[in-house]
Amino acid sequence: EKSRLTLLGLGAMGTALARAWLAAGHPLTVWNRTSSRAEPLAAEGATVAVTVAEAVTASDLVVICLLDDASVGEALADADLTGKDLVNLTTGTPAQARARAEWAERRGARFLDGGIMAVPPMIGAPESGGYVFYSGSRALFDARHSALAIPAGTVYVGEDPGFAALHDVALLSAMTGMFAGISHAFALIRKEDIAPKDFAPLLVDWLTAMAPSAYEIAGHLESGDYTRGVVSNLAMMVEGNSTLLRTAEEQGVSAELLTPFTALMERRLAGGHGDEGTTGVIDLLTR
Ligand code: NDP
Repeated sequence: EKSRLTLLGLGAMGTALARAWLAAGHPLTVWNRTSSRAEPLAAEGATVAVTVAEAVTASDLVVICLLDDASVGEALADADLTGKDLVNLTTGTPAQARARAEWAERRGARFLDGGIMAVPPMIGAPESGGYVFYSGSRALFDARHSALAIPAGTVYVGEDPGFAALHDVALLSAMTGMFAGISHAFALIRKEDIAPKDFAPLLVDWLTAMAPSAYEIAGHLESGDYTRGVVSNLAMMVEGNSTLLRTAEEQGVSAELLTPFTALMERRLAGGHGDEGTTGVIDLLTR
């Protein structure tokens, strides 16, 4: 007998989550501010609640997937959360998650925050590799794991309710840098007789080959020795950067996506750290 759960929010992500639980045979109560979005799910077996209060009453496990933290506060302003297990999959900042955890505990609920590392088509598709970071109540996570593991993989990152959001945002921030790099690379080749579709696999293979540099950086941060195992040192890389910047100029491409990082590398080099890799840039960002 699978336990009933309630899901608040039927946007693109909420709808994908709902379908995964329904497909797994979980009794599901759903609520959405715009009630018409619940109609297709009713046909698939979900119980549609008209009010948040009704939805929250229906199950002990309440999963929330709304637009942002403010909508969570708004939607649950008057709900009785006593004895509930609240799982918030709404994207927010670490501070928002910590404040939301205190808010939930004051109202008598256990609280778990989640950061979804997947897009809706990856939900309910284990082979896609999508997963959710969770942090907050370990007791809640353990008690509800079988239901939480249905839509996507689960990675628990600590009792601090802010840690799921922090992990989520750290990965998204790294992805932002990657998108910047991909944009610049395509800009460089754009006006030439180079087919983007031929260039793309080269770009993917190179980024994939370079990504494990994160392990070397982790080793530097753990040991405090930023020179350990460095094969491309900062002095060489800064020299190489001038070639990157000159090529951008030759190709008529703005270097504005490169210069924030190249400037930090130069500052670190000027501090006398030519034998390091890029790890020292992290010190400049955090001091
Ligand atoms: P959508 O824009 O598709 O849906 C937003 C949902 O929030 C709708 O159900 C909407 O209700 C509801 N909502 C907005 N404001 C309020 C409010 N004030 N009160 C009550 N309900 C409100 O977003 P997604 O479903 O895509 O995203 C939901 C969450 O999942 C977000 O936090 C997002 O960051 C996260 N996420 C999404 C991913 C994606 O690729 N889509 C990937 C990873 C995380 P209504 O229908 O009435 O407008």
